[in-house]
Amino acid sequence: MYGMYYNWDYLIYILPGFLLALYAQSKIKTNFDKYSRVTNREGLTGRSVAEMILRGHGIYDVRVDRVRGSLTDHYDPTQKVLRLSDPVYDSTSIAALGIAAHECGHAIQHNESYAPLKFRNTIVPAANLGSNLSFLFILIGLFAFEPLMKLGIALFAITVLFQLMTLPVEYDASRRAKAILADGVLSGEEMVGVERILSAAALTYVASLLTAIGTLLRFISLGRRRD
Ligand SMILES: [Zn+2]
Repeated sequence: MYGMYYNWDYLIYILPGFLLALYAQSKIKTNFDKYSRVTNREGLTGRSVAEMILRGHGIYDVRVDRVRGSLTDHYDPTQKVLRLSDPVYDSTSIAALGIAAHECGHAIQHNESYAPLKFRNTIVPAANLGSNLSFLFILIGLFAFEPLMKLGIALFAITVLFQLMTLPVEYDASRRAKAILADGVLSGEEMVGVERILSAAALTYVASLLTAIGTLLRFISLGRRRD
């Protein structure tokens, strides 16, 4: 029975996402290594550029804080805190500015009640529930009580929808970041680095979505076989 769940054709479904994730990770690493060594000409730090962007957009109630780790940068809408990691916060690198500006993009989206972000935040509880319970329901559906299979697949579909909604939110944050930085903050040459860093990061979200879609298709095909 175990073999049915862990057999090789599972690979066909998740391999595209897995390979793209590997590719995206290596792109992020090479670009981050490269552009975290290139200093911007204005000598701005991640923190100073974040504060400049937020205040420039009339956002005064978002705090810029430091967070441990590498590539752990994020905007927390519940606390209204923009957290920048150690390699970004005090850094004057092109990479740091690109990442800080991207996180500001999320704070601006939140401030403007950007529709895709609002929708994504609405489905967070359902998506969390789905990712926790879907595998359990599908396993029970496969081996014991078949009706739970369809419920598990439906729950997993919500997490796929969440991943799908992440794409426009992430692309929009990067689009805003690039527009702001290109408008008098960085030179055209410096913008090349920002461009590369942000597109590599976007690729990881595409990879997660592909993996989730592959897993969903796999579950659907398992469900069909049982019918
Ligand atoms: Zn983001």
